[in-house]
Amino acid sequence: MLRPAVTANSQLIPLDATNPPGGSLRSLFGMNVADLGDALAAAGEPKWRGQQVAEAIYRQRIVDLEGITTLSKELRERLISDRWRVGRPEIRQVFSSKDGTERYLIQGQSDPLTVETVWMPEGDDGEAGDTVGGEADAADEGGRRWDRATICVSSQVGCAVNCQFCLTAKLGLQRNLSAGEIAGQVVAVLQRQGVEVGKDRVNLVFMGMGEPFLNYDNFMRAVRLLVGEVGLSPQRMTVSTSGIVPGIERFAEEPPEVRPKLAISLNAPNDEVRSEVMPINRKWPIEAVMDAVRRVRLRGRERVTFEYVLLGGVTDQPKHAAEVARLVRRSGLPAKVNLIAWNPGPGVPYSTPSDNAVETFRRALGAEGVPVYLRRPRGRDIYAACGQLKRTVEDRA
Ligand code: SAH
Ligand code: SF4
Repeated sequence: MLRPAVTANSQLIPLDATNPPGGSLRSLFGMNVADLGDALAAAGEPKWRGQQVAEAIYRQRIVDLEGITTLSKELRERLISDRWRVGRPEIRQVFSSKDGTERYLIQGQSDPLTVETVWMPEGDDGEAGDTVGGEADAADEGGRRWDRATICVSSQVGCAVNCQFCLTAKLGLQRNLSAGEIAGQVVAVLQRQGVEVGKDRVNLVFMGMGEPFLNYDNFMRAVRLLVGEVGLSPQRMTVSTSGIVPGIERFAEEPPEVRPKLAISLNAPNDEVRSEVMPINRKWPIEAVMDAVRRVRLRGRERVTFEYVLLGGVTDQPKHAAEVARLVRRSGLPAKVNLIAWNPGPGVPYSTPSDNAVETFRRALGAEGVPVYLRRPRGRDIYAACGQLKRTVEDRA
């Protein structure tokens, strides 16, 4: 996989520092039908035109107000002179892997900061190596090379949580993303890949940069847009949290029609080790997280995912597997464990576990009756992208 180099002191560098800030421009993208209706009503139009605009920007993926031809030319011009724009974030840079994975730098209208989003096709192995990289519209490159895919979405620029093994943590929190910036990543990728919503199997994982539950309102607003306006199913969405208990408690109150599935970054066998690798554990230890998760009313057959990053020598020993199995069993939750071998990053003081340690760990959990999944090598690529910062000076070249 093409992975741009990362420097130890990597910083967020605007891709285009001269990009004019949006200033007083107003974005339609990010508003729900009701708010769009209000905006149109304020422009002297009937409220139902909000539905036309929603259809255009969320379903037809039109990025230019001029292109919304269900509105009269006069109305479009009036909206533009009222400083309205579609205002959807756009893909500025693409990094393509041989296996079809694409990583995007996506930039909003009014901010030079960019975020990362990842497209991970998971077709059969026969397609491997077929992908042509580059900037061309992938859907135009000779047909479909995937039969299902996952989009990894960011919720913040940087992250405040400070997990010791994570590259994104090194940035600190730069800012929250708005609902439009979160949902916009998805719609931009759906457009690039020519995805037909309702037909193609596309999953979303909120596992990119940031901690979704520390940007809760915007995150859930984005989910409601993605479900209500874009037409995606919340049962094909998974949100991952480092264990922000108040966020999990709010999440437990969300109606099932808009509640994604839940993944918890467990990442350690007990509180002692977890507090070391995830200092947030001192605030919300494992049992507090489990208590909160137990409040979520799971749908039939739904399971909670525990993500477990294997850190060589630190969390990958057989005794740790036994502890994890006990934790998961004692939680009483229908659960599965996703094992991820740690992906190295400069300046991050851990080591990747040996293949043998990973396999031994997986077997030990399985033998204890815990459903356990190991990311394929390709999946490792995926996680190399998710939850890690890679934007550097080199990326701009
Ligand atoms: N902030 C949220 C979601 C983004 S991180 C969370 O922490 O859950 C997504 C996943 O990537 C988490 O499970 C995290 O533990 C994992 N991760 C972070 N850095 C990693 C690394 N270097 N190698 C492998 N997985 C990593
Ligand atoms: Fe933030 Fe998640 Fe990285 Fe922890 S693992 S620092 S919560 S992005």
